[in-house]
Amino acid sequence: PAVAERIAAGEVIERPVSVVKELVENALDAGAQDIRVEVRGGGLRLIRVSDDGYGIPAEDLAAVCERHTTSKLTAFEDLERLHTLGFRGEALASIATIAEVTIQSRAWETEQEEGEEQPAYWYTWRGGLVQGHGRKARPHGTTVTVTDLFYNVPARLSYTRAARTENGHIVQLLRRYAVGYPSVRFNLALDEHTAIQTSGSGSLATTLTELYHISLEEMLQEIDVSDGEHYRLRGYLGNRVLAQGSRQYITLFINGRWVQSRVLQDALEEGYRSLLPKGKHPLLVLALEVPPDEVDVNIHPAKTEVHLLQEAKIKEAVTQTIKGLLERSPV
Ligand code: ADP
Ligand code: MG
Repeated sequence: PAVAERIAAGEVIERPVSVVKELVENALDAGAQDIRVEVRGGGLRLIRVSDDGYGIPAEDLAAVCERHTTSKLTAFEDLERLHTLGFRGEALASIATIAEVTIQSRAWETEQEEGEEQPAYWYTWRGGLVQGHGRKARPHGTTVTVTDLFYNVPARLSYTRAARTENGHIVQLLRRYAVGYPSVRFNLALDEHTAIQTSGSGSLATTLTELYHISLEEMLQEIDVSDGEHYRLRGYLGNRVLAQGSRQYITLFINGRWVQSRVLQDALEEGYRSLLPKGKHPLLVLALEVPPDEVDVNIHPAKTEVHLLQEAKIKEAVTQTIKGLLERSPV
């Protein structure tokens, strides 16, 4: 592909975790209940995402890595995507431009006859060009394998950090999806070592115990408070023993969407600052629900600003809720 195209793809796919994000989102879009992610060498050597979703019909497989071939997004989502990633329906195309990508898939045909074999197909692209394709049996679902990421984008390669750093980003991303989709089973293997395994039980509390290897559910307190009008706060707060020297154990959602909100972070800190040792942060998953017309989540690649109409009220509720629960939490 032309240099300009490679640079553009490199802008979209900033680092290995961007690939993982796109592939996992595709798996979720395909209704997967079981998503396996395999990473080697921080993602530069290999990223593989396997799902049991509805698969890609044979006649579509050849085209999924071409630009502008998909339009499943609604106009509104398109707009959002333009803000977040600056492209739409082009994730696979971008990745295939700057890596080697093999997609194996078997479409889930509901009308399939009992015992009838459903053929599965594979395609390989490298640097945007088809390298080969064929048939190979497999269960329904899709496996996307990405190797040699950034092999033709030296600027991106030099920007990529040590495998451990890249792995850290990938773990955080997968935790976020596991928390956001408790009924999906997630497995993440880093260099053949299992880093994350959830059961897809559907229970957020169970998912948290699995993600953070907490054996006791009593270490978590449930949050569910609402003023019946402007907000509802739901989630789980870990007790003081689980406090960490990092904010990465705090996961926030507003109206079902993962956010990084300064406003909520400040309100939280106000609530736990006096109750936890300096520099410690609780394990927390907090989902804020507000009427859609009282929130403006304005996503910009560089920053996430969330404007809440009832900001003062909600901040106060968040602060008091965290404070109250931590004060009461055992230990
Ligand atoms: P987008 O997701 O924005 O449509 P992508 O480049 O990420 O664009 O994917 C292109 C298309 O390939 C998707 O629209 C979908 O039809 C198909 N696809 C990709 N991954 C999967 C998957 N894991 N399961 C089923 N279909 C998939
Ligand atoms: Mg996609």
